[in-house]
Amino acid sequence: MQREIAEVHDGVWQMTVDHGRLRAWSYLIDAAEGELILYDLEGIAGVAHLTSVLKKIGRQPSELRVLILSHSHHLNKAKLRSLHAFANCKVLACLQGRQIMAPAAAPAAAGGDVPVDFSGDAGMIDWLEFFPFKLPFGREMQIVHTPGHSPDGISLSLSQERVLMCGEAFVGPGPADYLPLYTNVQDYRNTLRWVAEQAPEKLLTARYGVIEGRRVPAAVDQALRMVQHIEDFIAESISKIDHDITIEQLILMLSARFGRKAPVGFSDTVRAHLELLRTGRRS
Ligand SMILES: [Zn+2]
Repeated sequence: MQREIAEVHDGVWQMTVDHGRLRAWSYLIDAAEGELILYDLEGIAGVAHLTSVLKKIGRQPSELRVLILSHSHHLNKAKLRSLHAFANCKVLACLQGRQIMAPAAAPAAAGGDVPVDFSGDAGMIDWLEFFPFKLPFGREMQIVHTPGHSPDGISLSLSQERVLMCGEAFVGPGPADYLPLYTNVQDYRNTLRWVAEQAPEKLLTARYGVIEGRRVPAAVDQALRMVQHIEDFIAESISKIDHDITIEQLILMLSARFGRKAPVGFSDTVRAHLELLRTGRRS
C-alpha cells in the first residue's frame, strides 16, 4: 500500500491509498487560522496514516476540525469511528446519507450500497440538510450537494480559488477501466453540468486524481457523452432484442461494448437507465 502526500493547491494536500490496482484520494485543506479540514476517507488508510501525513506537513491532530464524508458508499464505519475518536473533529455528511444508511432502508439498498447503521452513534455525524453550506473558517469554503453517483454526494467548493473537491461525484470515464457508476441518471447529468458551469481550474476527485485547466471541461464533456452512449446502447439493445433482457445480460453487453468492467453496484446504473427509458424522460 503506497501512501503519499502532495500539495496540489495552496494549502490543499492530496493523500493517496492504493487499494490493489485502484487508487483513492482524499484532500486535507488548511482553513486559514490553524484549522484543518479533511475531505473524504477514501484516501486515508487509518489513524497511523493520518498521523504520519500530519507530521510530514508539520501539523497536529488537534488542528483537524472537520471531516467531510463525500457520500456513503463503502463507508468504513470502524475507520470513521477511530479517526473521530483520534482527532475529536466534527463529522459532516448529507442528510440523504442517513436515510440510505438507516436500517429500515437496508433491503432497498441493493448492489454497491452497503448500508451502514448509525443508530448507535447518535451525535457523531452532523447531517447537513441545506446547501450550499458555508463553513465558518477564514478561508471561503462551501459544501454543495452533488448527487447522481449517490443521492448523498457532497462536494467542497473553494469557489473564489476555483477549486472543487468532488469525491466520486465525477466518475469518469477517464483513465480507469471501469464503467461509470451512478444511481440517478438525471441527477448525475445535472451535477456534471453544474461542475461545467462552475468552470473550476482544479477538480480534485477521489478516483481520477487532480484534473486541471482545460482538461476539466474536456473530462466533464467526456463523462456526459459516456452517459449518453450508455443510454443509447441500452435503448438500442432493448429495441433489437424481442425477448425479455435481464439486467445481468445488459451489464455483460455494456461491458463488452465499452471494454470496461462493471463496478460493484453497476446494476443500479442500468436500473436507473431502464427506469428513465420506461418513463420517457430522456434529455
Ligand atoms: Zn461511491
